[in-house]
Amino acid sequence: MVFLTIDDGWEQDPGFLAQVRDRRISIAAFVTRDAVEARGATDPTAQGGRFLGAGKWGYIRDLRGAGATIENHTLTHPNLPTLGYERQKAEICGTSKLIRRHTGSAPTLFRPPFGNHNTLTRKAAKACGIDALLLWTATVQPGGKIAYQVPDKKLRPGDVLLLHFRPGLSRDFRILVNKIKRRGFEIGNLDAYLKAATR
Ligand SMILES: [Zn+2]
Repeated sequence: MVFLTIDDGWEQDPGFLAQVRDRRISIAAFVTRDAVEARGATDPTAQGGRFLGAGKWGYIRDLRGAGATIENHTLTHPNLPTLGYERQKAEICGTSKLIRRHTGSAPTLFRPPFGNHNTLTRKAAKACGIDALLLWTATVQPGGKIAYQVPDKKLRPGDVLLLHFRPGLSRDFRILVNKIKRRGFEIGNLDAYLKAATR
């Protein structure tokens, strides 16, 4: 089993939403306020890509309705270890409140931007009601290509794959899901798995 996660929220691709819903694919979305609301001029992850329907929480709500879990990835995507405790806490608690307001459900997982965190991050996340910090073991590139962090370039059971809400996501996601299944893996429900593991 491997797990799929998707970060930030700049691009709101209806084809991706339809696949999650119609193929019942488990995925955890780690959303950043400034990406979902398209604050600032450009999507730093898209190399000049355009926004597709960005600026709305309705898409994130629909994604949750399609079975995705909506998790915490800060308000402004800062490099957290450069911030003190109170500012880290404001980033994490503020995002949890916002997600609960827009989706009806508070997140239980937190992914620090760039994967960077320190002991204050863990303390702040706990104070904001977060159960676990979740990083990743491989990233998914344009074209559905998997960039492994291990030399033998194979999927392993328990791998956590990181995608981004980017232009072309719908096509890349279809290629990725088919590749995972072809290699004999199932896509696990991260939320249920972690709840069972930490109970
Ligand atoms: Zn991010």
